[in-house]
Amino acid sequence: MRAHDVIVTKRDGGRLSDEQIDWFISTYSASDEIADEQAAALIMAIFLNGMEPDELAHWTGAMIDSGDRLDLSSIDRPTVDKHSTGGVGDKVSLIVVPLLAACGAAVPQLSGRGLGHTGGTLDKMESIPGWRAEMSLDQMRRQLGSIGGVIAGASASLAPADRKLYALRDVTGTVESIPLIASSIMSKKIAEGTQALTLDVKVGSGAFMPDLESADALARAMVRIGEAHGVATSALVTRMDNVLGMTAGNALEVTEAIDVLSGGGPPDVVDLSLALAGDMARLAGIDVDVAAVLASGAALESFEAMVTAQGGDLSAGLPVARHVRHVHAVEPGVVQRVDARRVGVAAWLLGAGRARKEDPVSATAGVVTLVRPGDEVEGGQPVLALHADDEARFDRAERELEGCVGIGPASIDALPIVIETISGH
Ligand code: URA
Repeated sequence: MRAHDVIVTKRDGGRLSDEQIDWFISTYSASDEIADEQAAALIMAIFLNGMEPDELAHWTGAMIDSGDRLDLSSIDRPTVDKHSTGGVGDKVSLIVVPLLAACGAAVPQLSGRGLGHTGGTLDKMESIPGWRAEMSLDQMRRQLGSIGGVIAGASASLAPADRKLYALRDVTGTVESIPLIASSIMSKKIAEGTQALTLDVKVGSGAFMPDLESADALARAMVRIGEAHGVATSALVTRMDNVLGMTAGNALEVTEAIDVLSGGGPPDVVDLSLALAGDMARLAGIDVDVAAVLASGAALESFEAMVTAQGGDLSAGLPVARHVRHVHAVEPGVVQRVDARRVGVAAWLLGAGRARKEDPVSATAGVVTLVRPGDEVEGGQPVLALHADDEARFDRAERELEGCVGIGPASIDALPIVIETISGH
């Protein structure tokens, strides 16, 4: 097999054979026989010419086979997970993982750290004093069997081909490709060993996918891959134009998630959490009213048990920022939107996110939105609260937020957060 021939097949719009895919992925991920420039040429050819559905399923399978696939068969509960393509203020994993655990499922939520303007679940959890993301496989299995939920760092042995390919995509302008995104996400999720998976594919200004057509195509591609690998998969395409809930920032979002688990919280976060949790329960074969379980307080108990099992201490309270600065409405009227992307970038500038993988993040920094679309405001009223430990960070964040809260004369109707559901099952 020669890398040159594999590249030429895809350059000319052909389908890669299963043998070509297996050889290319296994050789590239485990040795230096295929040069980075050859792998870069192949992914650019995939970016330009796409992949057939069965070709993409095989490509994903080869990425899974580049590492371990966890065996969770000893766990005496149905396994189910969720994945979000990333949104500003998306703290939903912190709610649905313990909620499904309280419903009797086992949720092995393994994730990486956040990069760019959407925060990572691990960064949020790490704002809880003492909480640790690192767990051995045995610890994870025990916790899944007893409590039912785990949020932890993904081991480097899951889909190592993705790490190498993603680093290459990042520097070759090939990140925004539906087959490459779908295989990257699904290889890691399938390797995690879950039997079922609900995907939250976000669309809008604060999301990776700006338009409904591409979000729908990504959702369908991922559902097909999951089903081809024996994982019961569905996808909810959801709106991400406005910040989800009222907070973007690590400890701020944990506090909001605890509010939802305690029976309160913003309605959009509650609606999305229940929609995703309902779908996860259905895929896991659990006949339950997820809203009733949330209202009972059982999900909050599961969350507290998960935190304690991983060394966290909620009784100490969450850290709060040393400084808060407000942004005010420039005119009276009705809030039309709170631009998710701008709030995400501002939270990142305040210290909540990282520019490079190795950067530290601030637990306390972030943005609290004091108004929601549809609210009436007076001119001069505070609409955003910026939180930071370092006052020097406020000015750039404030500039980023200019015009971020859109105010107009018209009243607006709240649109449902879930646009469509694509179910393989
Ligand atoms: N997230 C991933 O894990 N991979 C991608 O390619 C894009 C988003």
